[in-house]
Amino acid sequence: MNRTIALGTMVLAGALTVVVAAQQQPPQPSVDNLTVEKVKDNLWVIRGGGGNTAVFATAKGLTIVDTKQPGWGQPLLDKIKTISDKPITTVINTHTHYDHVSGNVVIPATVEIIAQERTAKMMPNTTTVTAPGVTEKVFEANGKGLAKKTFKDTMTIGSGADQINLYYFGPAHTGGDAFVEFAALRVMHVGDTFPNKGMPIMDGNNGGSGVQYASTLRKAVAGVRNVDTLINGHTPEQTTPAEMREFADFVSDFVAHVQAAKKAGKTAAQAVAEWKNPEKYKGYSAPNGQRVTTNAQLIMNETK
Ligand SMILES: [Zn+2]
Repeated sequence: MNRTIALGTMVLAGALTVVVAAQQQPPQPSVDNLTVEKVKDNLWVIRGGGGNTAVFATAKGLTIVDTKQPGWGQPLLDKIKTISDKPITTVINTHTHYDHVSGNVVIPATVEIIAQERTAKMMPNTTTVTAPGVTEKVFEANGKGLAKKTFKDTMTIGSGADQINLYYFGPAHTGGDAFVEFAALRVMHVGDTFPNKGMPIMDGNNGGSGVQYASTLRKAVAGVRNVDTLINGHTPEQTTPAEMREFADFVSDFVAHVQAAKKAGKTAAQAVAEWKNPEKYKGYSAPNGQRVTTNAQLIMNETK
């Protein structure tokens, strides 16, 4: 009996090892490792290979929001062809991170690439950003794939059913986060300002802010009123503005916790050791140690 249990345990342990190994091996760039979901007529989300990509069909052609990790640009273009045979006219990047901009390098030179002005300035330097193990420079010296059209606070592209509104509400995930509203469809791509339900990256090296993060999110919710559906940077499904408001509360609870710890003379590491996601935030992932520590240090540096 004991031998059977021991054997069963060994088999289970072996199976778990295989599962863990499979999870650690990232999917290879391939059109088959991308999935398409139709959000509304004329709007799709392509998941896999980095940040979630939106594909919006207008009368003139396709507008793409975000272009995934290095190596995933061509699979993305191949996947887009399965949705529509219209040409791509416009690419919008929500922010500078490598998992949202790297596919730009395979976009034809005739396509207009748009980003918030600070993101456009940061993009040529996009290298490791916050990704361990990614060391190659995304963009070549020739500037192919960089954003040449920029906006500061707002920009409107097209009109009627094709209208897209771009907004910048202040620093959060980075210092150049764009919100992309598909006005007629009442949908907004919010990039990594609200990537998923868990601790976000507060990328101070690229202009992001911990202290201002929640207020930027609240400005976006209050400032773009006619939206019901959000496309997030990394979730497997869409969310709502109410969920973004809750996420802003989560972020500001964390910031208040870290600021109180600083006032009590504690270090960032001590603040993190004492942080647990408040129970009222249902479905939020457990705190990721390194990310929480980096965020706590940034918040302490920003707090006078
Ligand atoms: Zn990001």
